[in-house]
Amino acid sequence: AERTDKKAYEEAQKRLKMAEEDQRKILPELRKRSRWEYLNKREAEKLEDLEAEIADEEYLFASDQMTDRERKELEYKRTLRDLAKDYKKAGVKEQQERKNRYFMPEEKRSKVPQRELELEEMPMEVGGEQGRWEEERLKTACLSFGAKQERERGMKEERDRYQLILEEDEMINFVSTRPTPGEEAGLSQAEIRKESIQEVRRLLPIFPYREDLLAAIDQHQILVIEGETGSGKTTQIPQYLMEAGYTKGGLKIGCTQPRRVAAMSVAARVAEEVGAKLGNEVGYSIRFEDCTSERTILKYMTDGMLLREFLTEPDLATYSVVIIDEAHERTLHTDILFGLIKDIARFRSDLKVLVASATLDTERFSCFFDDAPVFRIPGRRFPVDIFYTKAPEADYLEACVVSVLQIHVTQPIGDVLVFLTGQEEIEACCEMLQERCRRLGSKISELLVLPIYANLPSDMQAKIFNPTPPGARKVVVATNIAETSLTIDGIIYVIDPGFCKQKSYNARTGMESLIVTPCSRASANQRAGRAGRVAAGKCFRLYTAWAFKHEMEESTVPEIQRTNLGNVVLLLKSLGINDLIHFDFMDPPPHETLVLALEQLYALGALNHLGELTKRRLNALDVNKGLAVPLSRYKCSEEVLTIAAMLSVNNSIFYRPKDKVVHADNARMNFVVPGGDHLVLLNVYTQWIESGYSTQWCYENFIQFRSMKRARDVRDQLEGLMERIEVEVVSCQGEPMPIRKAVTAGYFYHTARLSKGGYKTVKHQQTVYVHPNSSLFDEQTRWLIYHELVFTTKEFMRQVIEIDSAWLLEVAPHYYKNKE
Ligand code: ADP
Ligand code: MG
Repeated sequence: AERTDKKAYEEAQKRLKMAEEDQRKILPELRKRSRWEYLNKREAEKLEDLEAEIADEEYLFASDQMTDRERKELEYKRTLRDLAKDYKKAGVKEQQERKNRYFMPEEKRSKVPQRELELEEMPMEVGGEQGRWEEERLKTACLSFGAKQERERGMKEERDRYQLILEEDEMINFVSTRPTPGEEAGLSQAEIRKESIQEVRRLLPIFPYREDLLAAIDQHQILVIEGETGSGKTTQIPQYLMEAGYTKGGLKIGCTQPRRVAAMSVAARVAEEVGAKLGNEVGYSIRFEDCTSERTILKYMTDGMLLREFLTEPDLATYSVVIIDEAHERTLHTDILFGLIKDIARFRSDLKVLVASATLDTERFSCFFDDAPVFRIPGRRFPVDIFYTKAPEADYLEACVVSVLQIHVTQPIGDVLVFLTGQEEIEACCEMLQERCRRLGSKISELLVLPIYANLPSDMQAKIFNPTPPGARKVVVATNIAETSLTIDGIIYVIDPGFCKQKSYNARTGMESLIVTPCSRASANQRAGRAGRVAAGKCFRLYTAWAFKHEMEESTVPEIQRTNLGNVVLLLKSLGINDLIHFDFMDPPPHETLVLALEQLYALGALNHLGELTKRRLNALDVNKGLAVPLSRYKCSEEVLTIAAMLSVNNSIFYRPKDKVVHADNARMNFVVPGGDHLVLLNVYTQWIESGYSTQWCYENFIQFRSMKRARDVRDQLEGLMERIEVEVVSCQGEPMPIRKAVTAGYFYHTARLSKGGYKTVKHQQTVYVHPNSSLFDEQTRWLIYHELVFTTKEFMRQVIEIDSAWLLEVAPHYYKNKE
């Protein structure tokens, strides 16, 4: 008896120890952050059992009827109970916090197995797990009735049980849809699956309107086309035109995109659909990258590139059709294209102009283009439930991460799309998500986290389109590129923190800054719409309904109203358009912005006192990107090219992982050389060359390889450009003096001077600060030239270099003579 007793005791002890350790492990986690992952009903039940046991034994203990062993066991139980209580308390708080979020029903969690359930219930067996998975995907994609009813019932139940902070008029309504051709023809799932890429094309909402559309294009020179995102405007219309013979005789179709990523990705997709190699019949052209050839008849390009084409071909004679896509984005370049194209369409009656837009603002386009007809493609859109937070979120990044996990654990199958503002944020979010998934381990099913932003290498970009593997869920973390430019199939949930990065320009100070601002209501609605493309979806807005109504602008202000017009003026002038004040702008830029741009170009010597272009314009090719530097005079173009390339990669050179901040900062310190940040960047690049452009070197020095690689690309392009304009590339062997002078010559109007209260800009006597990331942060440098001003918490000068004030008069006498 003694032996079994002992064994039982040992076993109990072991169990308790394990349980205790479990709890110990979990508690700090729980206290730290994670809101709800760890708390579940089982834990609560455990506590009740424990309480009962302790109560029983407490009696024995009090009456001193216990053996030592039993006493010890009781002690363990008490500790465990306390732990569990703590645990529960924390859990309750967690739950409350969760309630404050979306009113996401607790019971939903029990619905998680729904995934298996749906799979179990699949009527047809199409070859094992993979087959069933594909069936499942197709089912959601084509929305067979069973799935729809199931979903609708679920939604209704949810709505009845939980009050959504949702008002009828804010709901995105069900737009009536035609049945998809596949359904109409009564095709079985398996048949659809077997269909070729051509069949997929036929399933797009635009397809039934192919003939009508072609007829309309035939009848009208300018046509505005409006259609829901994902209806097939970008990928299909050019193909229809090709099929209809618009490219006969070597004429081209051009389609502009505001974003590089979209141009590349869409071109790749269409090349695949056409069955051509990318760069042959179908190609793309973006800044610094031309993927077209003699054979190219369909060319996707950024709007900026089409603008450049006006320089070599002012009447766009080789084009039969120009499509200005994503017109609603109203980027600076698109807006200028409007004016130019409207102009050439008058004398090129054979040129077809299509203005394609999401369902926004189309009346205005029609109006601008002399009442051009609007062709509406009825969209397929399913209802999207919108959830708001009850209180504003302090940290929207954290809120995003939590929401993703929350969806992952509580919501049925379907991919998630998260909107963030830029690369840094997206990377941070992805890291956080991956980290948490690692911690949760097998407690949750697989979560595929995929980023998408402009600088992401294209093979990584392509990944977001891959179908989600069985049993997993895909999360795409994107900039607003996913708002309308790219359509990712299978998205059911959208998380929208309500922010975007926007260029804003202060004409008075000449300051252009990229700031994170609340996005517009129009944007928010576009984002929400992404959830309702393949089936009914949900959009989680990380802001309050009140904020949506009162704090957000109705629509985004066109870029032309909030930008430095330097390059635009140069471009229009070089196209021979001298009278900018009377240029046909859809929304004219503010008068003072235009005047300031002219003034700045005059200061640079790019315009003479009559406002005409001077010869110096070649050196002022890109006023914003650091190429304004007169390259030949200071015999250091080799170095200046490097610096310009490094400046162009947008402050993403240094990598500072949260867990290795000290190491990263030390590594960074090692690159510091006297004189300023431009020289530090040069030093980084030079050392990287010495390492043989090594990835390992970057890794060891906390340098982002990707950014360096991009800088290298940009540098190569710039060097090519130099060759074309026949400027010899010479080196000063890293000698700082000529470099600093050259930068001064290019940026003399970005001078700041140390005075009593800190730095003041010479131009407007505005108080500014050296950015904490700068190598000159702790220095008291009398005269500085900054590369850019950014407004975050204060007005910071980013990338500064020390100069001698005497140089100013030397490099820009026409500018400084009167100022002194
Ligand atoms: P719209 O321009 O009207 O928004 P698109 O022509 O861009 O629509 O998209 C039509 C379809 O093509 C969508 O279903 C989208 O998922 C698909 N598609 C577009 N680009 C790609 C790509 N790079 N890879 C895979 N599918 C794509
Ligand atoms: Mg499109």
